[in-house]
Amino acid sequence: MGMKALFADDAYLSTCEATVTGIREDGGIELDQTCFYATSGGQPGDTGFFERADGTRIRIEGTINGATKAEIIHLPAADQPAPDIGETVTLHIDWDRRYKLMRLHTACHLLSVVCPYPITGASIAEDDARVDFDMSETIDKAEVTEKLMALVEANHPVYIEWISEEEFEANPDIVKSKNVRPPRGLGRMRLVCIGDQATVDSQPCGGTHVSETAEVGQIHIGKIEKKGRENRRFRIRFGEMPA
Ligand SMILES: [Zn+2]
Repeated sequence: MGMKALFADDAYLSTCEATVTGIREDGGIELDQTCFYATSGGQPGDTGFFERADGTRIRIEGTINGATKAEIIHLPAADQPAPDIGETVTLHIDWDRRYKLMRLHTACHLLSVVCPYPITGASIAEDDARVDFDMSETIDKAEVTEKLMALVEANHPVYIEWISEEEFEANPDIVKSKNVRPPRGLGRMRLVCIGDQATVDSQPCGGTHVSETAEVGQIHIGKIEKKGRENRRFRIRFGEMPA
């Protein structure tokens, strides 16, 4: 089914209209298009609600992919009414939550610039993001925070560029993730670029990001944990670094 993932081209789209195309056995709702991001790449799926023509609401408590990335399933909270196939609904993302996720997700990209080591894992929550690096060096969290904030304050543009798989084959080193390879066979690949002409960074990623680094705002490294001899787990949090 030709479902349009509107968040891939416009991360700031917090609302849109859509037509219900399917209801799954478990109650999951499928639409012809959506602004709800589906859990992927360490970023949790969107929550929010669907507004029906009569003004009543269907609360959505999660969004996930189906068998493929092309399938996006909206998970209603318990005891919500099921919409009809063909019904038009207006989608509303819980924008405060999503915007925090966009800010912290973008901060993870900046951290991978400050710490240029292979990434072994990442997970983003509303008020805390963690990134695991394959590294054995000890590094000072105040110094990392300072470098991160310099990138934030420089207010670099953040933008999407689509490249062909052939272009990617010619330059596979842009992938920083050690275990996760970007999805193939789609003909094109989505790159998240930071800085004019991607001078700061470019990285395959399907998530949602802010459009300039200043929007990340004040962040700091809350903790650097040693997870094994060659693994360091960084935690990014909002606000000033506690004294
Ligand atoms: Zn990303």
